[in-house]
Amino acid sequence: MLKKDKPNILFIGLGMMGQPMAHRLIQAHYPLFVHDTNRETVKNYCNQIDAKALLPSDDLSLIDVVITMLPDSGIVESVILGVDNSPGVASKLKPGSIIIDMSSSEPMRSRELGASLTKMNLIYLDAPVSGGVKRAIDGSLAIMVGGTLEAFADVQPILENLGKNIFHVGDPGSGHAIKALNNYLSAITTLSVAEALIIGKRFGLDPNKMVDVFNSSSGKSNATENKAKQFMLNGAFSAGFTAKLMLKDITIANQLGSAVNSSMELGEASLNAWRNALEFLGDDEDHTAIYRYVEQNQSA
Ligand code: NAD
Repeated sequence: MLKKDKPNILFIGLGMMGQPMAHRLIQAHYPLFVHDTNRETVKNYCNQIDAKALLPSDDLSLIDVVITMLPDSGIVESVILGVDNSPGVASKLKPGSIIIDMSSSEPMRSRELGASLTKMNLIYLDAPVSGGVKRAIDGSLAIMVGGTLEAFADVQPILENLGKNIFHVGDPGSGHAIKALNNYLSAITTLSVAEALIIGKRFGLDPNKMVDVFNSSSGKSNATENKAKQFMLNGAFSAGFTAKLMLKDITIANQLGSAVNSSMELGEASLNAWRNALEFLGDDEDHTAIYRYVEQNQSA
C-alpha cells in the first residue's frame, strides 16, 4: 500500500501522450522524475516544465510508482525487465513499488509481465487509455485498469488527474485486452465512415450533409461525430493518433481473438485494409488519413 499522500513517480515515455499526462501530474504536485530515450525531448520538456530528468545516478528505491507510456509491449518489457546485460527499472525498485503500464500493450504479454513482477515482490497494473492527445491535455481520458482491486484503489488518486472515466476491468492484462477491442471497433467505424462518405460523394451527395444525417441516425459513431468533419472532409488529418498505432491495436485485437480461439472475419478484413493504408500513407500519417487511402483505392 502506498504510504504517502503524494508518492514519488517516475514517468517513462514523453511522447504525444506522455508529455501532457506527466504535465498533469506535475500540476497536481506529485514529485515527478521523467525519462525518455530521446534526450533532446527530455531536455526541452524539463526546461519548459518543472520536471526532473532521471539521472543514471538517481536512487530508484526512492520511487514509489513507475508509469510507462511507451510504443509497445516489447519496449515496455525492455524498460521494466531489462535487455541483454542492461538491467531494467524493476530490479532497482524497492519491494511493494507499483508499475503502471498505460501504453497500449499486448494483453497476453502483460499477463506474463505481471506474473514476473509479482515474483519480484512488485505490483503491476495495466491502465491503457482512450481519448487521444486532446483528452490527455484536459485530463478526461477513459482509463481501463487490470490488476488487484487493492492496487487499483492505491493508484486511483493518481489516475484521477489523468482521466474522468476510470474502470477496474479485471486481472492484469484485462485493461490491455479491452483497449485493443475498443480500438478494433474504432478502426472499423473509421474505415467504414470513410468508405460511406466517398461512395456518397460519388453518387452526388453532399458529404457534410451526410455526416449531419448519420449523426441523427443509427449510423452515428465517434467517427461520424468527432472525425468526419473535423479531420477527414476538411483535409486536416490531424487527430493526433497515427495510422501506425491503429494498425498495432488491430493486430493486438486479432491476436487476442486467435488466443481465445475466436474467428474475426471483420478483424481480418480491417487488418488488411489498415495494412494497405499504412503502405500508401507512410508511417507518420494520422489515422484519419485512411480517408485519402480509401479515396485513391476507389478510383484505382
Ligand atoms: P509516441 O511515439 O509519441 O511516444 C513514445 C515515446 O516513447 C517517445 O517519446 C519515445 O522516444 C519514447 N521511447 C521509445 N522507446 C523508449 C525507451 N526504451 N525508453 C524510454 N522512452 C522510450 O507515442 P504516443 O502517441 O505518446 O503513444 C504512447 C502509447 O499510448 C502507445 O502505446 C499508444 O498506442 C498509446 N496511445 C496513444 C494515443 C494517441 O492518441 N497518440 C491514444 C491512446 C493510446
